[in-house]
Amino acid sequence: MEYVGNVIRPPSEADAIILQVTVGCSYNKCTFCGAYKDVSFAIKDEATITRDLQFARECCRNHKRVFLADGDVLILSQKRLVRLFHLIHEYLPWISRISLYGNARAIRNKSQENLSELKALGLDRVYMGLESGCDEILQRIQKGETAETMIAAAKKIRGAGIFLSVTALLGLGDVTLSERHAADTAKALSAMAPNQIAILTLMPLENTILGQEVLVGKFFLPNPQVILAELSLLLSCLQNIRCQFHANHASSYLPIFGRLPKDREALLAAIEMAKSGAVLLVPEHRRAL
Ligand code: SF4
Repeated sequence: MEYVGNVIRPPSEADAIILQVTVGCSYNKCTFCGAYKDVSFAIKDEATITRDLQFARECCRNHKRVFLADGDVLILSQKRLVRLFHLIHEYLPWISRISLYGNARAIRNKSQENLSELKALGLDRVYMGLESGCDEILQRIQKGETAETMIAAAKKIRGAGIFLSVTALLGLGDVTLSERHAADTAKALSAMAPNQIAILTLMPLENTILGQEVLVGKFFLPNPQVILAELSLLLSCLQNIRCQFHANHASSYLPIFGRLPKDREALLAAIEMAKSGAVLLVPEHRRAL
C-alpha cells in the first residue's frame, strides 16, 4: 500500500484494510491535534487508489472491513465518494463494512439523501471528534464548530442509520474549565445519542499550539486526580443513552469500558477505587496516543 505521512486509524479498526484516499486533514487547525502537521491536504488520484485496491485484492483476503484514511474522507464530493465505494466493491467484493472519520463540516455538506446513499453502498461507521461539549473550550482549541453544530451533524449520521462513534478528550478544559468541560460534554453526547463513546485523555504534543501553550504556562494540564473526576462527572451526567462506553484508549490513566446504562454504576465504582488509590493508574511512561 502506498501510504503518505502518518496514517492513523481508530483502535477498533485494527483489523481493517486501511485505504488511504486523502492525505492529512483539510481543516488542520485544532490546537491540540498534531496528527497531520507535516503534510498538506491532498486527494489521492484514482490510479494510486486502484493500485492499492489491487494489492488488497491479492494480499488482504482475510480482512472483512475497510477503513478510509486520512482525517476527513467524507469531505470528498458525493460523486467521488460514490465512485470510490463502487471501486471498493469491484476490487474487494467480500467487503461488507466501510468506515471513516467524518467531521461536522463534511457532514454538513452532505444531504440526508447523500448519507443514506453512502449507507446503502456500505458506509457502516463514522468516527467523529466532539472533543468537548463546552463552546468556550471549542473556541479556545479552534475546533471551528460549536456543540450545537456537532450535535446536528451527529443526528444526520444517525438519521441515515450509520453507526456513530464520538470521541471526547479529557483534560481539554485546562484546570480552570474542568467541571464545565465534563458536564457540557456529557450534555452534548446525550443529545448526539452515538452508538459508541470513546474517551481519550489529552497528551499535549510539542508540534501543536496547545503543546506550546503548556510549555509557556498558558495552559495548565489537569493532574490524574482531576482527570478521574472529569471522567466520573461526565459518566454521571450522561442521560438517556444506550451505547458502548470506551475509556480504555492508550492515553487513559484508568482503562475502563462497558455498556451504558447497564454498566454505569460499576464503571463509577471503578473510578472511585482509582481515586482512593486502591487501583494503580497507568504510569505516564506507559501512556500513548
Ligand atoms: S482534530 Fe480532526 S478536524 Fe481537527 S485538525 Fe485534527 S484531524 Fe483535523
